[in-house]
Amino acid sequence: MNQQTSESARIPARLVKPKPRITPHLADPSGPNASFSWDQAQAHLSGLPGGGLNIAYEAVDRHVADGRGTREAIRWIGKTGARRSLSYAELAEATSRFANALQALGVMPGERVFVLMGRLPELYIAVLGALKAGCVVTPLFSAFGPEPIATRCEMGDARLLVTTPELYQRKVAGLRERLPGLRHVLLVGDATAEGPGVQRWHELVDAASPVFSTTATDAETMSLLHFTSGTTGRPKGAVHVHGAVLAHWATGHYALDLHSDAQESDVYWCTADPGWVTGTSYGIIAPLVCGVVNVVVEAEFDAASWYEVLERERVSVWYTAPTAIRMMMKLGTEALRGRDLSALRFMASVGEPLNPEAVVWGLEAFGLPFHDNWWQTETGGIMIANFAAMDIKPGSMGKPLPGITAAIGSRDAEGHVSLVEQPDVQGELLLKTPWPSMMRGYLNEDARYRKCFSEGWYFTGDLARRDVEGYYWFVGRADDVIKSSGHLIGPFEVESALIEHPAVAEAGVIGVPDPTAGEVVKAFVALKPGFEPSEALMRELLGHARKRLGAAVAPKSIEFRIDLPKTRSGKIMRRLLKARELGLPEGDLSTLENDEKK
Ligand code: ATP
Ligand code: MG
Repeated sequence: MNQQTSESARIPARLVKPKPRITPHLADPSGPNASFSWDQAQAHLSGLPGGGLNIAYEAVDRHVADGRGTREAIRWIGKTGARRSLSYAELAEATSRFANALQALGVMPGERVFVLMGRLPELYIAVLGALKAGCVVTPLFSAFGPEPIATRCEMGDARLLVTTPELYQRKVAGLRERLPGLRHVLLVGDATAEGPGVQRWHELVDAASPVFSTTATDAETMSLLHFTSGTTGRPKGAVHVHGAVLAHWATGHYALDLHSDAQESDVYWCTADPGWVTGTSYGIIAPLVCGVVNVVVEAEFDAASWYEVLERERVSVWYTAPTAIRMMMKLGTEALRGRDLSALRFMASVGEPLNPEAVVWGLEAFGLPFHDNWWQTETGGIMIANFAAMDIKPGSMGKPLPGITAAIGSRDAEGHVSLVEQPDVQGELLLKTPWPSMMRGYLNEDARYRKCFSEGWYFTGDLARRDVEGYYWFVGRADDVIKSSGHLIGPFEVESALIEHPAVAEAGVIGVPDPTAGEVVKAFVALKPGFEPSEALMRELLGHARKRLGAAVAPKSIEFRIDLPKTRSGKIMRRLLKARELGLPEGDLSTLENDEKK
């Protein structure tokens, strides 16, 4: 499979990349990392002064206690160009005010604080302040409609909601009867709105004391409740604990290679919204725990303004997603001409498989490749990564993090696990339990949670293979894999081959039932600007795919689309392409970002 991809002239099997500009934290990622242990890594955290562990204290207050309070923590860039910079000391005070406000309202440790707003500074203050107060936090996408908001608030038993007056009026006011447990709403902004328990942030939080003694949570105290992306079905609520902060530190340090020392710290930008887990673990917690400058951009994707942010803010470490990269690729490298991106030294990507073409394009466009890494809402942090010091094999998600043991395997009906020792054999991707950021439950779905584990292994639901050098290659989600004439085909390899064609911006691949082959491969393709759907182009793409993949794996049919259906976290919803193709029920669409039907 991926070997075929690497035979392409454009895509080398192993990428020659520029030598890292500074010595990576993980200098030898090929080693067994025998020197790493989670116990020893604890030394990089401080713990609460009176004992215990709290994410917000590690992310914010301990930097102040250690004399780094004047350093920049959050650099916020608003939609209209407004800016706000918060030092670690200012963030400590702001989060303490919010924690005091929660206490004054009688919101108890363990109760749930939901946040529904765009990427405003108050979002970051509310998440960290609620953690400080010992509350459990759930950030929601501000673009969710009323129904997904109501179901999540109901499921998660939201006690307090932080939102804006506009969002409250449009999406929440009409739901209040369904949410009797939602006692308080804090509105951020100048406008106002009426409703039970509705108060203004500025009146309550700004008036609160900036001194708060962090609630004595410990490593097993629940911290965040994060809903999955809903790519394969109804979103699950993954329960996380404060102990995850150790993994946030380790992965920020090793996988994203964040540096902060006495002279200098990285300027880091994670483009994800905190409505999905990347935007929380790596858009809030990990960068702050690692003590770097965390750039927050309120505006949504726009290639030209993103390039401007990279240049103007002198971003050095950038963490983004395949959908955004594909959108940039669609526009070509023209918009980058003349930009001074000399500060940029490391680029990473997560969320979906990163097509080999995108890795190579990164090198052409930025002089640096994107480093793919893999994880899930359930894992709480990055598990497999292409490290700064490691050669990239385009199309591979890299190697396990220090402290993480991955394997390829399967289990029988009794739950007995068989591991695959040989290289290049496809199977389910497994992770050895436990690790600090592992989910501790699916909310209200205990049986489903327990089904994820067998004999000390966590079953990820993703299929992968490991090559002889220990690199992991994503094959597909177990649900998306296509079985055609005895072949198991991962949609990713077919999509990757298609997007190597200059006309293709994006591709989504599904299996459709076929009386002889069982299933045959069908591709949905969105074209780059300047290309029009035609019979001739379709034949050309079918030929291109056959040449790259062989007749058994190549699609039998292609349908052109303006856009592919995606989740709000930017993942192609193959299950929706399939349901619509086969006229089946569409299932939970609460996280659907764009509806191609419209
Ligand atoms: P749901 O579980 O609700 O169907 P989801 O799995 O998309 O949604 P997330 O937890 O946001 O929810 O996403 C994790 C999944 O995203 C992984 O299991 C994997 O399928 C995919 N993924 C993430 N990063 C990568 C990557 N680098 N390569 C391939 N797939 C990835
Ligand atoms: Mg999932």
